[in-house]
Amino acid sequence: MTPDVSLRPYNTFGVEARAAYFAEFASVAELRTALRQAVPPVLVLGGGSNILFTRDWPGTVLRNRICGIEVVRRFPHRVWVRAGGGEDWHELVMWAVRQNFGGIENLSLIPGSVGAAPVQNIGAYGVELKDVFISLEAVELATGRLRRFTRQECRFGYRDSIFKQQEKGRWCITAVTLSLTTDRHRLNTSYGDVARTLADMGVGNPTPAHISEAVVRIRQAKLPDPAHMGNCGSFFKNPEVRQEVWENIRQRYPNAPHYPLPNGHIKVPAGWLIEQCGWKGRRVGNVGCYEKQALVLVNHGGATGQEAHALAQAIAASVAAQFGIALEPEVNVW
Ligand code: FAD
Ligand code: NAP
Repeated sequence: MTPDVSLRPYNTFGVEARAAYFAEFASVAELRTALRQAVPPVLVLGGGSNILFTRDWPGTVLRNRICGIEVVRRFPHRVWVRAGGGEDWHELVMWAVRQNFGGIENLSLIPGSVGAAPVQNIGAYGVELKDVFISLEAVELATGRLRRFTRQECRFGYRDSIFKQQEKGRWCITAVTLSLTTDRHRLNTSYGDVARTLADMGVGNPTPAHISEAVVRIRQAKLPDPAHMGNCGSFFKNPEVRQEVWENIRQRYPNAPHYPLPNGHIKVPAGWLIEQCGWKGRRVGNVGCYEKQALVLVNHGGATGQEAHALAQAIAASVAAQFGIALEPEVNVW
């Protein structure tokens, strides 16, 4: 347990905050030892790509380094793959693509750890973790007890799970098991950018590897790489609004992008709402709204977490004033 550690290298927004105590663990046994020594409150950290520190952490930050990827069951057309919570998510996707296992190729290049993926049910380009999820193993922080959670028990929703709700801050996810196809893949090219990029690549009959490559190309062209420009991805969730709210927007903006949902609500891209309020590419002090995607807030260098949070609040206030929609942060703000 190391006292007074800077968390700047451990969050992709690149802001300074200090942990009163910090330790890494590479096995369930090491995690249990760390939990016995930890000064509360305990924060489990993966890649730090979905958290904004606006102040120091007063207790212990435990960084997950549990590794390992293995096929644990084989079926005629699928396998179950179990991965350690400290594995890098994108490395797991690349491993799957190399074996021609299908199911997570649309989730290529999402930063962060395998253990954090269920926390917000990561999703991109029409696929969510829940689509391939079998179960996870987690250690209860208060007791060190190891427990298995099924898909139903995780209560996955849009960028949501029980670990962001009732069970928030109570568990450390140590392993995740996914079901991936070995042939007869059910590939998803429903998002326009993916189909267009596959066409540009001259691919008519895509494999998981082709889709992964297309997604990587799109993301590299559109999103800031945290290694070069601090950010934590989409700052807000895309709002799902009632029909009458959408009608109100449509009358003012007949070409507004929108996606009808099975529950009758309409998803309106938060990035578009923010752009209409004039924020896209705008800089305020050391933080700003990314020039190619307004949903991403960026660190232009030397930003503090408070600055980023203040910008997020100003953006949310102007979207509320102009559209009557309350944007909900996707990022975990501390
Ligand atoms: P952290 O930031 O370390 O932690 C996030 C939260 O999960 C914290 O509350 C933390 O306490 C908790 N947590 C972390 N690990 C564990 C664990 N093992 N057990 C229990 N709780 C834990 N997200 C998407 O869904 N789709 C995208 O397409 C996407 N694109 C992104 C692009 C960029 C450039 C960036 C910077 C982020 C993007 N994100 C996206 C957000 C982020 O990558 C994901 O949410 C990712 O799963 C976070 O993983 P992490 O290990 O970095 O989590
Ligand atoms: P985009 O293609 O510009 O589209 C804007 C939004 O419209 C998306 O966020 C998406 O919502 C929605 N959308 C687009 N096509 C859709 C379709 N065919 N059906 C239903 N909804 C559709 O989005 P982007 O910003 O470049 O992101 C592309 C994908 O990567 C999205 O899925 C996005 O969620 C994901 N992503 C997430 C993060 C993050 O940090 N969470 C960061 C970057 C990218 P959904 O978000 O609901 O899919």
